[in-house]
Amino acid sequence: MNPSTLIPPPAWVRRTEQYDTQALQALDSAHFIHPFTDHGDLATRGARVITRAEGVYIWDSEGEKLLDAMSGLWCVNVGYGRKELADAAYQQMMTLPFYNSFFQTTNVPAVKLAARLASLAPEVDGRSFQHVFYSSSGSESNDSNVRMVRRYWDLLGQPQRKVIISRLNAYHGSTMAGASLGGMSGMHAQGDLPIPKITHIGQPYFFENGLPGESEAEFGLRAAGWLEAKIVEVGADKVAAFIAEPIQGAGGVIIPPATYWPEIQRIVDKYNILLVSDEVICAFGRLGHWFAYEKFGYKPDLVTFAKAVTSGYIPLGGVMVGDRVAKVLIEKGGEFNHGYTYSGHPVACAVGLANLAIMEREQLPQRVRDDIGPYLARGFEKIAEHALVGVAETCGFTAGLVLVKNKKRRERFAEALGVGMMCRGHCFQNGLIMRAVGDRMIIAPPLTMTHDDIDEMLRLIRQALDLTQQELH
Ligand code: PLP
Repeated sequence: MNPSTLIPPPAWVRRTEQYDTQALQALDSAHFIHPFTDHGDLATRGARVITRAEGVYIWDSEGEKLLDAMSGLWCVNVGYGRKELADAAYQQMMTLPFYNSFFQTTNVPAVKLAARLASLAPEVDGRSFQHVFYSSSGSESNDSNVRMVRRYWDLLGQPQRKVIISRLNAYHGSTMAGASLGGMSGMHAQGDLPIPKITHIGQPYFFENGLPGESEAEFGLRAAGWLEAKIVEVGADKVAAFIAEPIQGAGGVIIPPATYWPEIQRIVDKYNILLVSDEVICAFGRLGHWFAYEKFGYKPDLVTFAKAVTSGYIPLGGVMVGDRVAKVLIEKGGEFNHGYTYSGHPVACAVGLANLAIMEREQLPQRVRDDIGPYLARGFEKIAEHALVGVAETCGFTAGLVLVKNKKRRERFAEALGVGMMCRGHCFQNGLIMRAVGDRMIIAPPLTMTHDDIDEMLRLIRQALDLTQQELH
């Protein structure tokens, strides 16, 4: 990254005494209900107050510097402090800060971004993506997917096709439909989810679900077969779509065997059901391509995006609508009674355009594919040798490892021990943000990391593993 593209933080931001951490934590605890947070816990510890960021680092109100190996929350693919993105937002706010795109109006950045996204989405077997539906988040986009999928089959005279099949341990957002599509038991337990006509199959997690003696390739076919079994169980004429993440991000960077996606494609084709690829995490370079379906070679009808489309600098999400669905919605549908105030928000779209321009100029998808992805993979081969690591795997520029009690026997720790959170604590204390999902430790760093940054990240990971091992013994 060219350092001249970073915004130097104002001098006052550097003076940590500007922040009264305890007062901020007290206000936070008194007034701010956080997403996915135990507030009893938060009240005793106090939230960490993040105050600024630059490149691949963030700082807190106490002046502690942390290497952000999670890109915020899988968002900041171009790294922090990009002046171009702030300029794009400023210019657009001064030109047209907002206008809606309902009722036959549009705006310049929304039009240009839709065309740009259409040009970036690769055509597979004559199927292309010429249309975009905008939202402000991944969750909303998946709600829109449910609406579009059901509308599609209604318009084709098959209103009985309503069931959407998803997977356990998938994450598709936090709205009623998003959380229902997701397969997180903790989320389903709160709020009587899933909503009707959403059902789940198992995940393609070889380390957990592979049988003794079964190869990864065999397991991939068996896991894809669960989709066919579910379609038959529900009744093929009732199934509208299958939704899945190319690799499960929030579920712990679960990378499916190479045999999985081709078999899924065969099954959705056989039963003529729509395929929705939720690429909220995987698109925009994360797996070395603009869109991840290209990496795995499957042919989705709808693609969910959000997060890195603006590198998280401003909320924006949407759905790439493939020709099969778009043709029916547009030619047969009349008015689609669905949309958000901020669909096609001009400022968000202007930032999206500027963000894609940076990614293109710096060739970030290629960089992941040819340079930093393989470099990270080599580093993770060494991490895999650590006594506490059962398996360590990467895909593009994201990675996961499993903490195990006994490496040889692949024996796992009791869940109640919270070994992942223990390791995460050591990461935090030593200046690294790494996420724990049960006993899996995961990363998805900014795509702008240099080799030196990656080396430093791997050193910090190894250090956290050593400290966790010491704490356990
Ligand atoms: N889909 C996937 C695959 C995600 O990873 C996420 C968020 O992490 C979402 C949907 C929800 O996105 P948002 O939090 O922007 O609503």
